[in-house]
Amino acid sequence: MYDSIVIGSGAAGSTVARRLAETGKKVLVLEKRSHVGGNCYDREDEHGILIHQYGPHIFHTNDEEVYQFLSEFTEWFLFDHEVAANVHGKMLPVPFNLNTLYQVYDASKAKELEQALIREYGSGSRVPIIKLMESANPDIKAIADFVYENIFLYYTMKQWGQTPEEISPEVTGRVPVLISYDNRYFQDKYQGMPIDGYTAMFQNMLDHPGITVETSADCRESLTFSENGTLFLGREFTGEIIYTGALDELFDCAYGRLPYRSLDFRFEYLEQDSFQGRSVVNYTVSEPYTRITEFKYLTGQKDAKGTTIVKEYPFAYTGAEGEIPYYAIINEENQALYQKYADKIKPFRNVYLLGRLAEYKYYNIDAIVKKALQLADKIRR
Ligand code: UDP
Repeated sequence: MYDSIVIGSGAAGSTVARRLAETGKKVLVLEKRSHVGGNCYDREDEHGILIHQYGPHIFHTNDEEVYQFLSEFTEWFLFDHEVAANVHGKMLPVPFNLNTLYQVYDASKAKELEQALIREYGSGSRVPIIKLMESANPDIKAIADFVYENIFLYYTMKQWGQTPEEISPEVTGRVPVLISYDNRYFQDKYQGMPIDGYTAMFQNMLDHPGITVETSADCRESLTFSENGTLFLGREFTGEIIYTGALDELFDCAYGRLPYRSLDFRFEYLEQDSFQGRSVVNYTVSEPYTRITEFKYLTGQKDAKGTTIVKEYPFAYTGAEGEIPYYAIINEENQALYQKYADKIKPFRNVYLLGRLAEYKYYNIDAIVKKALQLADKIRR
């Protein structure tokens, strides 16, 4: 009855389902949650304010194909996303850039340091903090120490339970030091929000005669991976299965749980016009939460009465009921464990793994949409 089964309806699952359906395939999407959109899911809270239930998601891309594809399902509220770090009450632009430098040092010292940075790395460059720390130039080392102590160390300890040196360099490399006067958090050409929210965008994407979506549907109740191949409702299924969930759970965590960081999102509604006057403030030297998002500034909502904010409290995922695995903790040991599960699925030639969970990777929205488009192309060839 179905040509393809897609497990999960987040950015990965929805994109691949749509593309396969457009080639004439009959696609079944099985979604464990009661809604589509994965962690991009947004909704109006009881005060009519559009919130991101699973934390702030800011779309950004330089990829024309991805932007054009998503634009088939939404118009955009485009803006340049900026973040401030609250450092002992002072609001500093993050990523640390030359504007930040002039806020931290007096003008003549800042000028001297600016020239040193440009000499060493070149104007316009992006330098990971870990690399900046290695500089032999004492002036640059002093800046690096400041940035490390005030922007990275405490935030990273909260977020990951480890120091910046202990985690994968790719993670802190996402937020480099910028040798420019660019206060934007991302440097991408397109950045912003789907105008009616992510949920509406993914609903539009899944709205295709070739797609059937079942929500509140645990795939383990209908799919079996046995020596005889993949079974759907007890019968052999030879079509492609695109799995976007956590790989260990498919095998009842037989080799142990893959480690993830989770987050406790605590929402607060305030009967005031504005709380922080901007979308995101990172707490990099104090407070037990990593950041506060004020949604009306993130989504551009104008008709909101009062304001809703969310604080993010990270913790180690245990797999307990209700916990959500948000971030893979990428290191050699965890990769090796992931590989054991990946090897277990390998004999099933019709099963494809896609997305943050299934690939145990740290994908941005645009990167996973790209990957999903490529996978659909590969499948239909
Ligand atoms: N980071 C930090 N201080 C900041 C911003 C980021 O230490 O003010 C580090 C931290 O380790 C974080 C990583 O850089 O996990 C990546 O940050 P990003 O904002 O990309 O994280 P996401 O929005 O994906 O949670």
